[in-house]
Amino acid sequence: MPESIIRLENINFAYDSKVVLKNVNLEINRGTFMGLVGPNGGGKTTIIKILLGLIEPDSGKVFINNQPINKFKDWNKIGFVSQKANTFNKGFPATVFEVVSMGLTAKLGYLKFLNKKAKQQVLHAINQVGMSEYAYRNIGDLSGGQQQRVFIARALVSEPDILILDEPTVGIDFKNVERFYELLHKLNTEQNITMLLITHDTGAMTNYATNIVCLNQTLHFHGRSEEYSALSTEDLSRIYGHPVQVIVHDHD
Ligand code: ADP
Repeated sequence: MPESIIRLENINFAYDSKVVLKNVNLEINRGTFMGLVGPNGGGKTTIIKILLGLIEPDSGKVFINNQPINKFKDWNKIGFVSQKANTFNKGFPATVFEVVSMGLTAKLGYLKFLNKKAKQQVLHAINQVGMSEYAYRNIGDLSGGQQQRVFIARALVSEPDILILDEPTVGIDFKNVERFYELLHKLNTEQNITMLLITHDTGAMTNYATNIVCLNQTLHFHGRSEEYSALSTEDLSRIYGHPVQVIVHDHD
């Protein structure tokens, strides 16, 4: 029996009179790598805010780990990585180690000195994202792609069930985007961390996601990644409401 991590039932939401989500039903089971795609303004960020409990739907129900969201307490099991726009500027005075250790403070409260076990957890998370050699470098001196890996490590340090990523590859160059997706794929397949990835980069992402949902007020597509890749450009244009050009990145 698949284990439900997130379930949305009949979600409706409007900002004042502007309807953004209509009757959205979505279930994400443990181990899934779900790509959330759709046109700008389609409601992707709004739905993430709803499932993080930041805004309440006008109607409908949200369950996390099978618990109604208002009863759910274990928020450190839900990792969130936002767009690169929130990254640190050059010269920001914190090392990779310090930034990743912030991921533990939600669980442990602010700690001036981490005990040995906590230090090992931080170093392990840094190692998981392949950044060990940068552990004591200043975060501001790293490239955008490297900084995003550090943010993944910060989320990993509390051993999340799911990572929710809102357009994490914006501003990262193509080669590093591929490597970034490979990291997410590895965490998904080797550690069974469920992934929910919002992206515009449908070409590369379909190589890694197991499932795709396309949101434009309602869910216009919900299925396996292979089925999404098989949609014609006409189907996609209908879903997106404007012409869509699909760019396919093949893997050798
Ligand atoms: P996406 O992430 O798919 O681009 P959003 O969820 O950000 O879509 O936005 C959906 C719609 O809601 C858009 O038309 C946007 O302009 C509108 N919207 C988003 N945030 C607000 C807000 N705080 N107040 C009013 N309208 C908003």
